[in-house]
Amino acid sequence: MRRKIVAGNWKMNGSKDLVQQLVGQVREQVASLDARVEVVIIPPALYVDSVVALCGSELVAGVQNVSQWQSGAYTGEVSSDMAKDLGCQYALVGHSERRQLFGESDEVVARKIEQVLASGLTAVLCVGETLEEREAGSAERVVASQVQQGLASVAGDQWSRIVVAYEPVWAIGTGKTATAEDAQAMHADIRRVLAEMGAPSETISVLYGGSVKADNAAALFAEPDIDGGLIGGASLKAEDFVSICRAFP
Ligand code: PEP
Repeated sequence: MRRKIVAGNWKMNGSKDLVQQLVGQVREQVASLDARVEVVIIPPALYVDSVVALCGSELVAGVQNVSQWQSGAYTGEVSSDMAKDLGCQYALVGHSERRQLFGESDEVVARKIEQVLASGLTAVLCVGETLEEREAGSAERVVASQVQQGLASVAGDQWSRIVVAYEPVWAIGTGKTATAEDAQAMHADIRRVLAEMGAPSETISVLYGGSVKADNAAALFAEPDIDGGLIGGASLKAEDFVSICRAFP
């Protein structure tokens, strides 16, 4: 049975006040949720410590990015070991904003995955095609290549700490969502690629991200290969985020 996961990526939003309000409200409201659903809060790194302190047993915390290096003279970087030390359980790797705005290549993404696994966290590898790539008919090839390169060094038991998030770039923060059918088709393809890599593909959670809202989450989560969501904008309002957490069939 695969883990159902809803992860809220706050991106570069938030404040001490928002942490206090939002995490408290979400925690209270997800207390009655099916225990199958893991709810992850992913704030900016500076707020991770305060988020972890408020998580209780209902929530877990993650970081939005980690360094490709373990430690040392890398001013401004945050290591995966540090995230683990603060009590995080998850780390996003290769979010499209990191790839596009900060030039993260598949090679760097693969090194980050190695750091995350070495530190004992679960890695959420983000993959997805641009609109041009979709229109050119190469979405499946692009996504398959991101999965293959990002997870090239994963082996054995490490697969149990891998989650993949399919986030079409054209759907992130735009209000446009892939149809449940299109998302399902890509998720099935990602699972096929994972199997080809020797991964236990039927046990790996594959999340959908890209303008998931309270009103479209249920259709997405009803698909057999969609195991939850990576939520940006809608994770900043407790009510919206919790409705998404409740959207599993
Ligand atoms: C994201 O940041 O990963 C994301 C999916 O954002 P949004 O939900 O706002 O599209």
